Amino acid sequence: MTASKTMKVMQVSKANGPFELVTRPIPEPGPGQVRVKVEACGICHSDSMAVSGAMTGRFPAVPGHEVIGRVDALGAEVEGWKEGQRVGVGWYGGHCGKCEPCRRGEFVSCQKGSIPGLTYDGGYQEYMVTSTQSLAAVPESLDSVEAAPLLCAGLTTFNSLRNAGAKAGDLVAVLGLGGLGHLGVQFAAKMGYRVASIARGADKADFAKKLGAHHYIDSTKEDPAQGLQKLGGAKVILSTVTNADAMTAVLGGLGLHGRFVILGVDMKPIQVNMLPMLMFKQHVMGWPSGSSVDSEDTLKFSEMTGVKSMNEIYPLEKAREAYDRMMSGKARFRVVLKVG
Ligand SMILES: [Zn+2]
Ligand SMILES: [Zn+2]
Repeated sequence: MTASKTMKVMQVSKANGPFELVTRPIPEPGPGQVRVKVEACGICHSDSMAVSGAMTGRFPAVPGHEVIGRVDALGAEVEGWKEGQRVGVGWYGGHCGKCEPCRRGEFVSCQKGSIPGLTYDGGYQEYMVTSTQSLAAVPESLDSVEAAPLLCAGLTTFNSLRNAGAKAGDLVAVLGLGGLGHLGVQFAAKMGYRVASIARGADKADFAKKLGAHHYIDSTKEDPAQGLQKLGGAKVILSTVTNADAMTAVLGGLGLHGRFVILGVDMKPIQVNMLPMLMFKQHVMGWPSGSSVDSEDTLKFSEMTGVKSMNEIYPLEKAREAYDRMMSGKARFRVVLKVG
């Protein structure tokens, strides 16, 4: 139950406009929905799609798809969730059940899928209404701020890695050591792979090793593709950067049956050297986060193995500064809004 009838919301009212603090009535959940009292919401690069209006053009926009909170009210026809239960919401906000990806069980690729912050208001507010489809149960031991980035940055790296076909002991390279990369290195190490972290600068080597990397390749000093070939060629290269040239430079590090997994997007194309692709049966593939049960798996695995996100923390009311900080690229890892 809630004491006041209004809540604080950080919204953007026009394309690329500034964040503004507004007060709105606390929303009521409809059938199949719950209201979540938000405790923390991570800021993801994809929030820029809500701010720019590029994908849906929906304004005012309330971004946020790395949400941790507690169920505060149940709508009609809700089963399996109760008031006070700890929950998380990621990019996947629900699916239609009718399109081809849905009919094939690929719910996160639904053509009419709901996405928090894009097709409905996300986590940059005190209370959020969301479908039960979108909910992941959150282990009690996890800290809300630390857990929030696991719902997009964490889920995307964890779920792509476990579906990329590498076996224990295989060489897995993680390109980039930022918001996604610092989680990717930890997950890869905990999953039992031989991990090569690739980033720019010698100063990051110790940190990469601390996260569990067995090898560090400084791409400003060494050709990263050759570096990986010296280690035997990668079974998986997890690409967490958003720079096509950096991706192209690493592609040649794939080994036999190697897979280059794209998690970050650049509008510029990557270049593929076709001969090794053909000779060694290599793949270039992408991976779009996961559904709410995949989020649960990510959270449980993180709790079990001690994988943690590293964050800069801002209060909800400072969403403008927090968002600018994340988008500036100056934040080393993740930026999280602490709510309430
Ligand atoms: Zn995201
Ligand atoms: Zn669908």
